Amino acid sequence: MSLFRPQVQQMTGYTPGEQPQESGWVKLNTNENPYPPSPLVKAAVEQALAGRLNIYPDPLATEFRKVAAELFQVDPDWVLPGNGSDEVLTILMRTFADAGDLVSAPYPSYTLYETLAEIQGARFEKIQLNPDWSWPTTQAQEISAKSKILFVPNPNAPSGNRWSDEEIISLVPPQGVLVLDEAYGDFCDQPHKGELLKSQAGERIIVTRTLSKSYSLAGIRFGFAVAHPDLIQGMQKVKDSYNCNTLSLAAALAALKDQEWMQANTKKIQTTRKHLMAELGKLGFETVDSQTNFVWCTHPDQEHERRYQDLKRRKILVRYMKFGLTAGVLDGLRITVGTDHEVQTVLNALQEIG
Ligand code: PMP
Repeated sequence: MSLFRPQVQQMTGYTPGEQPQESGWVKLNTNENPYPPSPLVKAAVEQALAGRLNIYPDPLATEFRKVAAELFQVDPDWVLPGNGSDEVLTILMRTFADAGDLVSAPYPSYTLYETLAEIQGARFEKIQLNPDWSWPTTQAQEISAKSKILFVPNPNAPSGNRWSDEEIISLVPPQGVLVLDEAYGDFCDQPHKGELLKSQAGERIIVTRTLSKSYSLAGIRFGFAVAHPDLIQGMQKVKDSYNCNTLSLAAALAALKDQEWMQANTKKIQTTRKHLMAELGKLGFETVDSQTNFVWCTHPDQEHERRYQDLKRRKILVRYMKFGLTAGVLDGLRITVGTDHEVQTVLNALQEIG
């Protein structure tokens, strides 16, 4: 007899990207920002450390919500903070999906959605994207119509493409919610600030954001949701009271206040991204027009796994990904946009290993 819940027994479990603990790696596998966070973050954390760590943090994250709300031009009761946006996704699943409910997401996309659905005991359906990463419109509508939650990362991961607002709005489930996962939203040429929340379908849309990418705070773990207060209120009931700690709250607040720093880093990454895509093209790779801090690339010779291993031997980590589609297997390399130097290192290595 197993001690585990049936859902847990059946699970394969989620495998995060490799995080080598020793130095010396060119680490371009988990879409971290290569630049440090704003200096204001360090100052704020030091100040928080010198403060009262013996008392619990503010369960309402009042200061953070105020600043985040200003950015999205909404009131603070539209914001819910989380211990990374992955935690926000967990809170969403626990708030909106009952056991047996249908949860859906495009495929290939972020694989955590399926894992969270499995844990919750929800059913999960993949909406298989077309080979050019566009939506299979009719099938998407059919699945959305039955879904309690449809998760859509926009821009998408691992492809990096961004779908239009019209497409996103057309996907909002009539009997459920659309979670618009904008983990990479700040890297878009034209970033959004919650515009879709103010559309007619906005009452059923929840935008999630992370500070792990554009704000260079992956190590701190901070993300947040923005949605209509009715939806946030339900999520508030589900989240742990003290899900964000005193130090991470201080760091997140300081990072959000320094928009200039975030935007300067984002600009650098956009420039490097353009260079990386152009150079990959010269090496014979096909790339997707990326609106993120990573580039998805495939090579006509299909030797993606061999290249991943060859790079790893040189202490260069990129992400090798493989997806089973009805038309066969799709695999490729997802390369994070690092510093110019890191990107040149991976390009030189790719040239050498062929
Ligand atoms: N959504 C997507 C699409 C992601 O790629 C990631 C990062 N792996 C996340 C959410 C989670 O980010 P975090 O938990 O660091 O905020």
